[in-house]
Formats: sequence, structure tokens, C-alpha cells
Amino acid sequence: MAIVGAGITAAALAERLSQHGIDVDLYEKARGAGGRLTTRRAGAALFNHGCPTSAIVKAGRTGADGLETPIHSALQGQSSSDTSTSTFLAANSVVKNLVAARRVRYESSVARIEKHGNLWRLLASSGEVLGSAAAVVLTLPVPQALQLVPDTMAEWQQALAPVQYSACWTAMFCTPEPPTPDPAIISRLTRGHIDPDAELAGCSAWVAHATPEFSQAHLEHSADQVLPLLIDACGLQLKQTRLTQTHRWRYAICLEPISVSALWDAKHSIGIAGDAFGTHDNSLERALRSAQACAQRMLNTYSGDCGA
Ligand SMILES: Cc1cc2nc3c(=O)[nH]c(=O)nc-3n(C[C@H](O)[C@H](O)[C@H](O)COP(=O)(O)OP(=O)(O)OC[C@H]3O[C@@H](n4cnc5c(N)ncnc54)[C@H](O)[C@@H]3O)c2cc1C
Repeated sequence: MAIVGAGITAAALAERLSQHGIDVDLYEKARGAGGRLTTRRAGAALFNHGCPTSAIVKAGRTGADGLETPIHSALQGQSSSDTSTSTFLAANSVVKNLVAARRVRYESSVARIEKHGNLWRLLASSGEVLGSAAAVVLTLPVPQALQLVPDTMAEWQQALAPVQYSACWTAMFCTPEPPTPDPAIISRLTRGHIDPDAELAGCSAWVAHATPEFSQAHLEHSADQVLPLLIDACGLQLKQTRLTQTHRWRYAICLEPISVSALWDAKHSIGIAGDAFGTHDNSLERALRSAQACAQRMLNTYSGDCGA
């Protein structure tokens, strides 16, 4: 079984399938696992510049209330606050922990998938065959997943056409001054972490997420153009900031999910799962429920006897 992506959906799906003895390979284009649950190191600073810790902890807590989320155990004892200075949960550690026992092929960007007999082949843009499997599940943001779905599956292209995401420009910086965000441009300000470091003494680390409106309006602008605007919107000057970074999320949060919990085609052994599916209003929980629903439908299909 092949899963494209190594974010939380892929990790939860792989966990569930492995519990049922199904052999799983994950293919991830980045150098590490996490996807939008991500952590960047810059010098002595760490920034969760995608989904914030508070949302991850919330999804983990829901698990305690009955939804069997696999992140619950990874989060026990963690702070739920994004402004806490005492504890820092690296967002990507949750996914890293979950996939630690799985086979993940990093730096493996899947450019197309092709069916040959009973097997799906996963190919890089160079044409190199990255691997093959009896079944494949795509766990990417829908616009990226649709680039891999074969043209013959026009009904999926149609079903997923309404799915939309908000973009998010993100600034990361350390500063001795407390930021004072302008809510017209900055929608969320969360704390990062600084290792003991003499040069940054007196500084704190911050992640500023721009509003969807600002991010969309500046989507095709360069980081050099956007950074000064974001720092200014935090009530700071660039020269007051250290270890400053930016990141553009083209697909941050799914705004228009479709109501089905996942797509699974048992005849062709292909599926799509992630935060674009389901009716829950929390993005991470949709991703987790979608992974569970997709796993269940696959297990129903294979009745526990599918090899890789
Ligand atoms: C800035 C920001 C703020 C957020 N805030 C919240 C919040 O407050 N609450 C909430 O619930 N959710 C929030 N989210 C959304 C949440 O992070 C996502 O819903 C969740 O992480 C989706 O996980 P996923 O595994 O489905 O997708 P992803 O995490 O996107 O994983 C997909 C993976 O596929 C990989 N990939 C892509 N293309 C290929 C390819 N061709 N080949 C191989 N690999 C590929 C990517 O590198 C990535 O690792 C936020 C996200 C962002 C970015």
C-alpha cells in the first residue's frame, strides 16, 4: 500500500492500516514528516509556522472524548497555550513520532501515478519509478492531489472542484520588543522558542500569520516584498528583529470541504483523504476523521489480506 504525503492524515492512515497488518510505504517530497504541522529552526530559534500547537492539543483532547485520534498519546502533558514560555511542543514532532515506525521515502516527490496490471506505479517528474503498490492513497491538499488523479477519473475531478483553501503568508522573527499586531493584516500571533543563547538574551520568538485577505492579495509577491509589510503590521521595524524568516502557504486551511469523509474507489484501489473531507468545522479533526474513514473503507475492501 502506498500513501503519498507524510502529514497528519498520512500518519494517521498509516497507523490504522499497520494496526491491521497492512504493509505501508509513505512517499514525501520534503526532507521530513509533518506537512502543515511543521517546525522550522533558525539558529537558536524554533518556530511552528504552520498549524499552531493550540489546535493540535485541541484535536488531541477531542481524542480523549471518544474520537480515537492517534495524536492523543503523543500530546499527553503538553501545554495548550501558544503563548506559553515554559513548554514548547514542536508541531512536527507529533507526526514524526507517529511515522517513526513506518517506512517513509523522503525527498520523493510523486509527479504521476499509473496503473500497470494490478499495481500502481509512482513516478518522479524525471520518469524514475519511485515505487509500486497494490493501492494508493493521496493525502495532499486537493489541488495537488488532483494533479495526480488519472484523467479517466473525471467524476473525482468534478466532486472536488468546489474545494477551496485560504492562503497564509507567515513571518517568523525574534525581537526584544513585544509585537503589537494590526488585526487588519495579522490574524494570529504565536510564540516560538529560543534555546539559551547569549546573543538573543532578552528576545522572544514569534510567528505572525497574515489574514487570508492580505495573503491572497500578496500571493504572487516575493518574500522580500511581503516581509517588511508583515513586520510593520506587527508594530516593529525590520532592524528590531533577528533570525527573520517568511513562508507562504498556498493551501493553508480548507475553507470549502466536501461532506463525504474520504474518496475510495475499491475497483481501482485508489483513494484521497485529508482536511478537505467531512463536516467537522475543525480542519485537523477533519483530517484525522478522514484518515480513519479511508482506512475503514480500505479494510472493508481488503478484509485484511492486502500486501504491499
Ligand atoms: C498557517 C496554518 C495555520 C493552521 N491553523 C489551523 C488551526 O488553527 N486549526 C486547525 O485545525 N488546522 C489548522 N491548519 C490546518 C492543518 O494544519 C491541516 O488541516 C492539517 O495539517 C492537514 O494535514 P494533511 O496531512 O492532510 O496535509 P499536509 O499537512 O499538507 O500533508 C501533505 C504532505 O504531502 C506532501 N506532498 C505534497 N505534494 C507531494 C508530492 N507530489 N509527492 C509527495 N509528497 C507531497 C507535503 O510535503 C506534505 O508533507 C493550519 C495550517 C496552516 C498552514
